[in-house]
This record gives sequence, C-alpha cells and structure tokens, in this order.
Amino acid sequence: MERMAEPFHGTDLYVVDGLLSEEERLVRDNVASWVDQRWMPIVTQHYRNGTFPVELAPELGEMGLLGTSLKGYGCPGLSSVIYGLAMEELERGDSGLRSFASVQGSLAMYPIWAYGSEALKEKYLPKMAAGQLIGCFGLTEPDHGSDPGGMVTKAIRDGNEYVLSGEKLWITSGSVADLAVVWAKTNPEDPKSIRGFVVEKDRPGFTTYDVEGKFSLRASVTSGLVFDECRVPAENMLEGVGGLRGPLSCLNQARFGIAWGAVGAAIACYRAALDYAKDRVQFDRPIAGFQLVQAKFADMITEIVKGQLLAVQLGRLKDAERHTHVQVSIAKRNNVAMALQIARTAREILGANGIADEYPVFRHMSNLESVYTYEGTHDIHTLVIGREVTGLSAFM
Ligand SMILES: Cc1cc2nc3c(=O)[nH]c(=O)nc-3n(C[C@H](O)[C@H](O)[C@H](O)COP(=O)(O)OP(=O)(O)OC[C@H]3O[C@@H](n4cnc5c(N)ncnc54)[C@H](O)[C@@H]3O)c2cc1C
Repeated sequence: MERMAEPFHGTDLYVVDGLLSEEERLVRDNVASWVDQRWMPIVTQHYRNGTFPVELAPELGEMGLLGTSLKGYGCPGLSSVIYGLAMEELERGDSGLRSFASVQGSLAMYPIWAYGSEALKEKYLPKMAAGQLIGCFGLTEPDHGSDPGGMVTKAIRDGNEYVLSGEKLWITSGSVADLAVVWAKTNPEDPKSIRGFVVEKDRPGFTTYDVEGKFSLRASVTSGLVFDECRVPAENMLEGVGGLRGPLSCLNQARFGIAWGAVGAAIACYRAALDYAKDRVQFDRPIAGFQLVQAKFADMITEIVKGQLLAVQLGRLKDAERHTHVQVSIAKRNNVAMALQIARTAREILGANGIADEYPVFRHMSNLESVYTYEGTHDIHTLVIGREVTGLSAFM
C-alpha cells in the first residue's frame, strides 16, 4: 500500500479555527485541557455507577461555564460563541457533563435572570454561577413531553403563597439540585396561565426520586419531582413571563448549546475510530487502508465540518441578536442526528471493541439517543422547520 502524503491529524479540516478570535480559542483550549485532565479519568467509573460528580460544579463555575453568557449577578457575561465552544468541549467529554452545565446555565439560571425579581436574582444567581447552588428545570411530565401545554401540574394561589401539585419526570440533576425552576398552570384549564416558580429543595411537600435502569446519559442524574401541596411564597414566581413562551425561551438557549455540544461528541467518536483504524490490522494491512473504511471517514469528517460551520454561524448570529428559534432548531436537529450517525459508524469501525467502555464510542452513541429526544425531539424540530417554510402547522 502506497502512502501518498502525511495524514491530516485534527478534525479542523476547514480551518474553522480561523473564524475564531484569540479569546474564543483560549477559552476553548482551557476547557479542553480541563476535560482531558479532570473529566476523562473519571467518566467511565461514573458511567458504570450511574452517577454524576456534582463536586466538580465549583470548578465549572470557576471556568465561567455556568451561565456563561449571562451578564451581572456574578455571571461571566461571555459571548455566545465562547459558550458554544465550551459546550462542544464538555460534550467531547460526555453528554452528561454538557447537560449538567446546560441545565444549570440555560434552564435554571436563565429564567431567573430573564424573568425573576431583583430579589430572586441577587439571592440565587451569584451562587449558581459559582457552582455553590445547583438548579434543575421541571417542564416534562409523565404524560406530557412534546406537548408541554397539556401539563397538569398546577400552582393555585392561596393568600401570599402558591400551592403546587403534580409531578415532573426526566428532570436532569433533579435529586442533586438545591432548587428547581418548575412550570405549572395557575389555572388548570388555561395553557396561557403557565408560570415559572423557584422551588427550593427543602420546601415541605417537595420530594424527588431517581430514574433507575437508564442505558443512556448514565453519568447524569435524571429524576422525578413530586409536588404534594407544596407551598412556595408568591415572590418565588417568575414575574416577567407567562404562557409557554417562558419555558420555550429557556429551551431555545439550551438547544443552542446542544447544537455545539453534539459536534464535540462526534469529534470524540471520529478520533477514537481513526486511531483504532490506523492500528487495527486485518488481512495484513491497517483497516484504515481499505476503501470502504475510508469512505466512512470521508463522510464523518465532512459532516463534522458542516456541523462546525453551522454552529459558528449560529453563534455569530446570536451574538448579533439576529438569530431565530428556527435556526436553532435546524442546528440542533442536524448536529445531533449527524453526531448519532457518526457514533454508530465509529462503533462499526471498532468492531467488537466498539461495544466496550474502554473506548468512548458506545457511551457517546447511547448518550446521543437521549440528546436526539430531549429539548424537542428530532421530529418536533422537523415540524418547526416545516411550519416555517410552508406556513402550515403539522403539529396536530
Ligand atoms: C436523559 C433525559 C434528560 C431530560 N432532561 C429534562 C429536563 O431536565 N427537564 C425537562 O423538563 N425534561 C427533560 N427531559 C424530557 C425531554 O425533554 C422529553 O423526553 C422530550 O420532550 C420528549 O417527550 P417524551 O419523552 O414525553 O416523548 P413524546 O412527546 O411522547 O414523543 C414520543 C414520540 O412521538 C413523537 N411525536 C410527538 N408529538 C408528535 C407530533 N405532533 N408529530 C409527530 N411526532 C410526534 C416524538 O417525536 C417522539 O418520537 C429529559 C429527557 C431525557 C431522556
């Protein structure tokens, strides 16, 4: 077999780095080193045990990865592109790690920052940015996922308090969180009455349980939240937003991070498969030398490059406040499907070793099945894009 040229070692075949500022590259590289030094040595054990090392939260806070783009109240106030690059590196480590940071910053801190009273912001945001308080986001219910407007959790006013009753399910960080941002109807008959409430973990009537038996996102805590006539002061309601716009605006922030994060997971799988294919000898040559295997790498690197470019442009639009939720849907939908396909192809290239946790591939592959479903399933984003281009809603 003839070797024609020195192989290209990285994944940045289209010099996407050249589109980034020095500050953006610096933060990205710092997060990358942290992931390699602090996360990679422990991920397999946490995945096996089904645990998340919540004690790392202050380190994430120190790096500015909790509420990265929020301004004031002790938050870092960095650009959306920096936030995205950080999520890419975290998800190169594991989707569970990125999920933790996404939920904290985009789903728990963002609604308090955007819609909460001054008192709530001052009380919670600085400690959440520092990783001293953990938050979660309760929207999904056992019987209401893609259609959250059907939720049955209610918050009924009683004097200076609201009384919450209902159950939320599939809540990331639920049982390790110090506070939950919970979405409930103040009038059970009216979806427009949905409001957000900050519920601290020690409120009587609020309990949590963990989802057992997960095959995916094992290095992430996934919980149920139960509210049994749980009373919260009226000032814990997020006063600045009503209806589904509240939770959907938070999800839009988090989906932006997923669009970047998925590229990180894809890169991890691509690198593992490439290293393996160069080493693994069958029929007297490295399997990387076979045309069928090379076709797989050609597809993988092309898709990674496209995903990177999509993410960078989306980030630039967001920083210029010109992005739309449909663009976010396009990027989340494309990049997660792309990463899942790359993970499956990488698994194939690793043969039997592809199912072993000595390699990161199967872990990413099974994580990405969750990422494909949460924060709007692949098909729900298809409908969002379809509605935008046809003007016709196919949701019902
Ligand atoms: C690991 C994990 C972590 C999560 N973390 C959180 C969290 O922190 N907070 C939170 O609130 N939620 C969280 N979720 C929940 C997640 O957002 C939901 O699972 C998701 O919204 C889909 O809802 P569902 O699972 O009930 O599926 P369903 O809504 O029941 O959908 C099932 C299938 O039907 C399809 N479908 C539904 N409606 C339509 C339609 N109109 N047209 C065509 N197809 C349709 C869907 O695309 C999907 O394929 C998490 C989920 C997972 C797996």
